[in-house]
Amino acid sequence: MNHQELWQSVLNDIELQISKPNFVTWFKNSRLLDKQEGTALVSLPNNFAKEWVENKYNKIILASLRNLDETTKKIEFVVENQSEMISKLKKRGDSLNKKFLSDQLSFSELKIDPDTNLNPRYTLSSFVVGSSNDFAYGAATAVVKEVGKKYNPLFIHGGVGLGKTHLIQGIGNEIKNLYENKIKVRYVPSETFVNDVVSGVKGRRMEDIKEKYRLVDVLIIDDIQFFGGKSTSEEEFFHTFNALYENNKQIIASSDRPPRFLSTLSERLQSRFEGGTLGELKSPDYELRVAVLKTKLQDKNCSLPDNVIDLIANKALKNFRELEGVLNRVLSYQSQNAELSLKTAEEIINEALQQPTKNVNPNQVIKGVADYFEITTNDLISPSRKKSLVEPRQIAIYLLRDSLKLSYPAIGEKLGNRDHTTAIYSFTKLSKDINKNQELNHKILAIKDVIFKN
Ligand code: ADP
Ligand code: MG
Repeated sequence: MNHQELWQSVLNDIELQISKPNFVTWFKNSRLLDKQEGTALVSLPNNFAKEWVENKYNKIILASLRNLDETTKKIEFVVENQSEMISKLKKRGDSLNKKFLSDQLSFSELKIDPDTNLNPRYTLSSFVVGSSNDFAYGAATAVVKEVGKKYNPLFIHGGVGLGKTHLIQGIGNEIKNLYENKIKVRYVPSETFVNDVVSGVKGRRMEDIKEKYRLVDVLIIDDIQFFGGKSTSEEEFFHTFNALYENNKQIIASSDRPPRFLSTLSERLQSRFEGGTLGELKSPDYELRVAVLKTKLQDKNCSLPDNVIDLIANKALKNFRELEGVLNRVLSYQSQNAELSLKTAEEIINEALQQPTKNVNPNQVIKGVADYFEITTNDLISPSRKKSLVEPRQIAIYLLRDSLKLSYPAIGEKLGNRDHTTAIYSFTKLSKDINKNQELNHKILAIKDVIFKN
């Protein structure tokens, strides 16, 4: 059997195991490129398809390949050569949302500016404003007008996928363009900052690191909840902060929660941020979700029927990241198939919204929660009823039930042999609280983001 025949047999096999829309969406332009020393090299038309197939279908593909050829040990996935893909589309005269595909292909080519570390994709003009983010957006535009003055420091907080990175990078890009590099901007994820400080200390290059951060006019630091207890970095950040602040330089930070809840940040830094301007990004309402969907469609030069847009907006409720992910799935299907019925759309959306829980085990969930709260797993499952342990424990129970569908007795057992009624109580309580308490909702989303991230 040559590669093509072998792959065709695999496809025939997979077609029987998954739904039609999924099969067509994800496998239509797949190919077996090569097979050597037990490794099969499978190509997919774009990055989405690659990631999705790799995460969701790796197992069934491998099983099916093994059936046909025992020597197969693993699969590697690659994105098909981009130019090849585009020329193929052209040959087929395929006009259906072709721009979408080529956009997806060229997306990774968008260069991050090495001077500022900003991604040009995030702009203030592409940030759609609604009642859940208008205050934060207003503060952002105010900073652009008066850099380093009134709104300093600016602290943007909110849950996963609600637009923190987009907004703070948008400020950076706007300043850069408006002041034509006269104002020096630098964006860093807080992890980069921590790594820089750690390697600076080790390599005795601390002066270089200091210079790197103190010579800017606008320092944008993302996700500062990840500073978590790393005291050297925190100390260094505090000094950098002061040095910049005293020289009227602008500081912009983001975090998944307001400064006062950043327990690992020193009090002096907490109060520095509390003393500045705080902007919260809340969960978007239906109107904003629709508006964002329409904007993204316009950007991608694609269109969808109103009832499909409505369906997406009604189902992908959590945040913009989820919304975009679902939209991309639907578009990906549409770009390869002429017909998109409401029913098919619904299937794709439901499928896209399913939590990828397959590869996560209960211990990883417990560890994820413990890490988030910076306690040990032993504390988390201990009999202690200390207040600081009760919330993490309840969240662990909630996630074990909600995401892993573990039985109540099994949850009880995992959490230090507790009674199953404790598990029922905690799950019921949190299921209610999560709808009323934004803070709690954010925490849970942030934890999930870490645990279920592939
Ligand atoms: P966070 O940093 O809070 O986790 P991101 O900034 O990464 O969230 O946003 C997630 C995705 O949603 C990004 O693709 C971003 O461009 C998009 N997004 C977020 N907020 C908006 C908005 N108000 N308008 C348009 N797109 C948005
Ligand atoms: Mg972010």
